[in-house]
Amino acid sequence: MLAPGDLGWEAYPPEGWEEISVMDERNAPMRTYQVCSVMEANQNNWLRTALIPRSGARRIYVELKFTLRDCNSLPGVPGTCKETFNVYYHESDSAAPPLRHARESQYVKIDTIAADESFTQSDVGERVMKLNTEVRHISGLSKRGLYLAFQDLGACIALVSVRVFYKRCPLAVMNLARFPDTVTGGDQALVEVRGSCVDDAEELEAPRMFCSADGGWLVPIGRCVCRPGFEETDGQCQPCRPGFYKSSSMDAYCVKCPPHSYSHQDKASECICETGFYRAETDPRSMACTRPPSAPGNPISTVNETAVTLEWSPPRDTGGRGDVTYSVHCKKCSGTVREVGERCVPCGSSAHFSPRQFGLAHPRVQITELQPRTNYTFSIEAVNGVSDLRPSPRHLVNVNITTSQTVSVIVKERRSRDSITLAWQGPEPSDGAVLEYEVTYYEKNQRDQNYTVLKTKSNIMTVEGLKPGTVYVFRIRARTDGSYGNYGGEIELETSHEDMLAMGDPNQQTILAVSIAAGVVFLILLVACFVISGRHCGYIKAKQDPEDEKMQLQHGRVQLPGTRTYIHPHTYEDPNQAVRDFAKEIEVSNIRIERVIGAGEFGEVCSGRLRLPSKREIHVAIKSLKAGYTEQQRRDFLSEASIMGQFDHPNIIRLEGVVTRCKPVMIITEYMENGSLDTFLKKRDGQFAVIQLVGMLRGIAAGMQYLSEMNYVHRDLAARNILVNGNLVCKVSDFGLSRVLEDDPDAVYTTRGGKIPIRWTAPEAIAYRKFTSASDVWSYGIVMWEVISYGERPYWEMSNQDVIKAIDEGYRLPPPMDCPVVLHQLMLDCWEKNRSDRPKFGQIVNTLDQLICNPSSLKQLANNTVWEDQASPEPVCSTVADWLESIKMGQYKEHFSTAGYVTLDSVLYISTSWGIWEWCWRAIRRKSSHVFRACRCSSNRGPTSRYKV
Ligand code: AMP
Repeated sequence: MLAPGDLGWEAYPPEGWEEISVMDERNAPMRTYQVCSVMEANQNNWLRTALIPRSGARRIYVELKFTLRDCNSLPGVPGTCKETFNVYYHESDSAAPPLRHARESQYVKIDTIAADESFTQSDVGERVMKLNTEVRHISGLSKRGLYLAFQDLGACIALVSVRVFYKRCPLAVMNLARFPDTVTGGDQALVEVRGSCVDDAEELEAPRMFCSADGGWLVPIGRCVCRPGFEETDGQCQPCRPGFYKSSSMDAYCVKCPPHSYSHQDKASECICETGFYRAETDPRSMACTRPPSAPGNPISTVNETAVTLEWSPPRDTGGRGDVTYSVHCKKCSGTVREVGERCVPCGSSAHFSPRQFGLAHPRVQITELQPRTNYTFSIEAVNGVSDLRPSPRHLVNVNITTSQTVSVIVKERRSRDSITLAWQGPEPSDGAVLEYEVTYYEKNQRDQNYTVLKTKSNIMTVEGLKPGTVYVFRIRARTDGSYGNYGGEIELETSHEDMLAMGDPNQQTILAVSIAAGVVFLILLVACFVISGRHCGYIKAKQDPEDEKMQLQHGRVQLPGTRTYIHPHTYEDPNQAVRDFAKEIEVSNIRIERVIGAGEFGEVCSGRLRLPSKREIHVAIKSLKAGYTEQQRRDFLSEASIMGQFDHPNIIRLEGVVTRCKPVMIITEYMENGSLDTFLKKRDGQFAVIQLVGMLRGIAAGMQYLSEMNYVHRDLAARNILVNGNLVCKVSDFGLSRVLEDDPDAVYTTRGGKIPIRWTAPEAIAYRKFTSASDVWSYGIVMWEVISYGERPYWEMSNQDVIKAIDEGYRLPPPMDCPVVLHQLMLDCWEKNRSDRPKFGQIVNTLDQLICNPSSLKQLANNTVWEDQASPEPVCSTVADWLESIKMGQYKEHFSTAGYVTLDSVLYISTSWGIWEWCWRAIRRKSSHVFRACRCSSNRGPTSRYKV
């Protein structure tokens, strides 16, 4: 503080301090306060400033400039002469009383000030003024202001300048935050100051700094950042220039707009896509704008009956993105000419897309479960992340196809050094009468030079004159009603290097081909699509679903499985040959007919005895063909034998042989004492333990597993077509070719012309004749229901139409009375709408095995009741007989003991070869002692309901 004028300071006593103007060393005038009463003792001279306002400072500094005379330099001064003075302060909110009334105790001493320099005499006798500067500070001030007071006790002083000041931290900008000018705190205290973001900046973390007592800023914490559209320049946020953008406050700088985008204004936080380009919501702003892909190219369709494989090439222009997928839209079209008068409707959920319909990663899809003989239009679209943003029409590529009813054919082949014999299966008659087949072949890799076309009316052909050890490629197509169908695929066959059996006449060839058929490789070839004309209502068992075939055609090559495959008698030009191949001719003299046991489609069914030379007499069933049959009827009758003769499984009815050389023509099978399962169960209502019923179901499932592994689809699996022998073993029967059409009273004509046992048939088989092992699984579920309900009619008296409707709407048969919940669940699994969701027969067998091994799992009934053990604790089974009794299989004790299995341990080592008990062995072997422990004798247990577990 500078007060060059009259300062108005108070001095007391008045003769003490005086205000005097003097000239400084530059001869400028200056006001001083002086005192120099050195000659008298007991001096106490006070000088006090006016009130100095504190102005918020808690700590103030006092800078004093003064001169002080050295006592020695003053001649004749007494010893009371002083060379110091005292400085005091007095804090006050109001004016202090006059100095003369003041008491020393009211003043706080700051310090005693001594001179570093003092006036001294110069050599030349002049006084040289030496100015002292001292700084002191006062802390902890809190009142409105303060007075400074200077006490002189007898010195010679000139107070030249008194400067009072405090320190502030000056306004500062740090980390894009502005910190205001701040008065420092007292002593060492730091003042925490909250900063505020500069213009166009936003807080990232609250900015703070500390103002130190010295007036310096310390420890910046937190920061502000420039908001989108602005970047930091010289501690400020400057707008992005046009053509640049900054999308995030976290980005440091504005950057150029990415390709296909622009910003015409400054401060852009994102760039706008050019027309026709888009940015997906999830795209980063730094990504170039992209556009939907162009249409996929070169679509290729490969139709296989009611399935089609579509393949295409990726779009030429992916739109600049890497997330291209494909969607396939399906429309079913009616009308013969696509362009004129055609009505197309979406396919809905009827078609099955594999791997999926939308979001396909690869340019390929297979569509199955299409309706036969139907026009379809598939629109393939390439889609990327911005396809949905485009308002304009989409780029699609359309593929039109027509499904067919063409069948897969089974081709047998036999090779010698110079010939190859092929046999194939023709299409279903419903596809039109085959006029001839065209067999084309060429030497592999020589196609362009030479290929040969042969024609035949038969479906077996021997191609001769071939080179040994050479691979030939064969293709076959059929001609129906004047037009050729497509080639279905190619098969590569190699002539042998070595001489093989000579081929004789065509019949011989056939015999040979067929007789070795069981051991040779069978190939499946997809053959010709046929021009369909007319409508055929017939139901031909021959058609096996290619899906179920073990062999698959891949890129025109046939892959060979290791399993045996069922051969359809239609493969044979002469069905009699199939009979000869698969059925043994029996001398009629070896048969003794005893009594009539039933009526079949073609005539009576009798029971009787068969005694083959050097064999034990066995009980047989004899089906005979009634007199007056046509040749077609004879063939159909015997076709059952040629099918049955290919099977060999304990749960499939066994063919003993046929009588064809004399009349009546007969089919001899093993005798099943208890007849058909449905009548058997009705007669024995409620008489079995549920585990016995499960045992029967297990047998049926095992038989069906075998058939499905042979690629045989039964199509009419129902309790009426299961036969039961005296040991309660169930066997699948009824393999006639036309039986569903003619024989089955439950089969009715559908609107599509086929005759189908509606209640037992899967919806896809009813709707579009998609008969597969999966549709057999559906029927198996119905058989389960029939068995557990003791032969109740599925869906009771509901009409067939109501059944179809109810199934379509999701209705499923409820659990029969006392049905274990696990069994009903298995039924429901078999009745999954989507056939691929149904269990396979192998899985069903496993499930039932587990239930048999763990009978307690059958206790929880579907109606939420539980079987109660009435006698507890019960003895653990200790013998095989006990165990069999406990599971209500006591009647088989003899079988076990005859076979030498009398102890439970020995049972563990039984082989599975004893067919009918296979499930039992498996159960025992798997669970071993656990089963026996879990299995309790049931002698004390009384049934509380119809079933006994
Ligand atoms: P199918 O012509 O096979 O339907 O036979 C007609 C009826 O004859 C069946 O419903 C059975 O009752 C009876 N049957 C057929 N085969 C046998 C057999 N192997 N053992 C006992 N009964 C049979």
